[in-house]
Amino acid sequence: MPPPSYLPPRILPSLVSCSRRAVTSAATAAAAAYSTAAAGGNNGGRPLRYAVLGAGFAGLSVAWHLLKHSPKGSRVRVDIYDENGIGGGASGVSGGLLHPYSPKVKLLWRGAEFWKECVDLSSLQSCSLEVLNSDEAQCLIPGLRVPLNFAVYMPLALNINPKKYLQVALFFACQNMSDEASLSSSEQKECKLYKEHVDDLQQLAGDYDSVIICLGAKASSLPELTNKVPLRTCRGVIAEFQLPSDTVETYGSQSPSILSDAWLAFQGPRTVSIGSTWQWKSENYSSAVSDDEALTAMEELLPKASAVYPGITKWEFVQARAGIRAMPPLTANGSLPLLGCLNDSIGKRSNCSFWLVGGLGARGLLFHGLAGKLTAKAVISCDENLIPPEFTCWKEP
Ligand SMILES: Cc1cc2nc3c(=O)[nH]c(=O)nc-3n(C[C@H](O)[C@H](O)[C@H](O)COP(=O)(O)OP(=O)(O)OC[C@H]3O[C@@H](n4cnc5c(N)ncnc54)[C@H](O)[C@@H]3O)c2cc1C
Repeated sequence: MPPPSYLPPRILPSLVSCSRRAVTSAATAAAAAYSTAAAGGNNGGRPLRYAVLGAGFAGLSVAWHLLKHSPKGSRVRVDIYDENGIGGGASGVSGGLLHPYSPKVKLLWRGAEFWKECVDLSSLQSCSLEVLNSDEAQCLIPGLRVPLNFAVYMPLALNINPKKYLQVALFFACQNMSDEASLSSSEQKECKLYKEHVDDLQQLAGDYDSVIICLGAKASSLPELTNKVPLRTCRGVIAEFQLPSDTVETYGSQSPSILSDAWLAFQGPRTVSIGSTWQWKSENYSSAVSDDEALTAMEELLPKASAVYPGITKWEFVQARAGIRAMPPLTANGSLPLLGCLNDSIGKRSNCSFWLVGGLGARGLLFHGLAGKLTAKAVISCDENLIPPEFTCWKEP
């Protein structure tokens, strides 16, 4: 892993977060405002309206790709709904580790494509691997334990700060694209965030052309999707440690993060997150962690962390956080995101179509770029066939 970082913002921040009490009434008001604007505007016709449910990796990626891939000269409005705001689910608490390999260092199915979609699109570099012996590995990370005289180094793998990435890179990128479009007389793109709970799909159907469901582990809590999406929940706890302020020797600024039975994601010279636990079928959606849960997690994680990095015993526990992974079924190609159109399973409501981007499992960072792009293109074209069948076959009986 390379030195800790978060993806640098390419866009200057200008966060606008709207708050609404009633989704339906506000959406209707917005629709009315748009009809009025359209009636008096040059283009005529109303803009295409998309509702994206969830402002995690999946939802913000879909929103960005909807804005980016909508036809030139079109008028598009993307409303993002999230009860907790940006990164309020698993994305905001995740470890931020991004690479395209399995735990056994096997390139994942379409791993190179997923990877390319996530990192700087102008960079065609693959996420290469270097095999290191013990001495070479310890040059990178002094104090690292390398029992089999063998370590694998991923020089281009990333360790991002997930909250900063969601807010500073993804959401601002959406807003920036809207701002740029508004400078053109023929284009109109708008993207807004509504901090609102969505009870059901019915309340949105009349106001949108498409609704894209990106609710992570809570997708199945929508009444229309109960028992229709094959997701299992898995709660994970991450423990954050810091070096005491009187410790002179800090973690090297060029030293990478560590993947082992537990992973150690270093963020700066004095802070590290250690993860993660796997509690299957958990229904505890809270990001808060009780003292008991934190203690149990530390009893599991610390021995694993100190087996590879014994120096961790000098670090002090600060806090723990948790999230729920939405785990998809295992297929011949691995655990893949669940994508596709839901009209057949939930029935057509007005002229609105419904789509799912779910089951990002333990690899939301790797999957969100390509999953968002494929889905946005399919939504815009109203053509599910633009999504490879491996991502939609979960719907087959
Ligand atoms: C402990 C832990 C560590 C992880 N570490 C990594 C890692 O290092 N690298 C990696 O790639 N992946 C990691 N993951 C996995 C990654 O976090 C997930 O795959 C990813 O966050 C899923 O993104 P999402 O957008 O689908 O869901 P979420 O991020 O959960 O987003 C769903 C959003 O929907 C909102 N929402 C839910 N219900 C409603 C409703 N009814 N109305 C309105 N809003 C609603 C929520 O507030 C939430 O913001 C980790 C996961 C966990 C739990």
